[in-house]
Amino acid sequence: MAVEIVDLCVNCWACVDVCPSDAISEGKPHMLVNAKKCTECEGDYADPQCASICPIESAILDASGLAINPPGSLTGIPPERLQHTMNEIQAR
Ligand code: SF4
Ligand code: SF4
Repeated sequence: MAVEIVDLCVNCWACVDVCPSDAISEGKPHMLVNAKKCTECEGDYADPQCASICPIESAILDASGLAINPPGSLTGIPPERLQHTMNEIQAR
């Protein structure tokens, strides 16, 4: 079981040094998790350390493919409110 970093990643490198398994490395076009090395931090930490430090919502998925930090979890902006505002901006 492993987490996955997806294309929302902005390559800030924050997750690289906190991984206890040295499972994250630079990839193209974004950081990648080596699924053979990732332990989901089990035995080391209560929570996946990469997701705990990642500043981008939905950039890291759990083994089920679900965002560990879903929309609104870090910004506090409800997803529907964000979409409404984006629609307003795009209509200008
Ligand atoms: S879940 Fe833990 S072991 Fe897996 S990549 Fe993230 S920090 Fe590393
Ligand atoms: S902390 Fe998040 S945004 Fe930063 S490199 Fe890691 S996955 Fe990408």
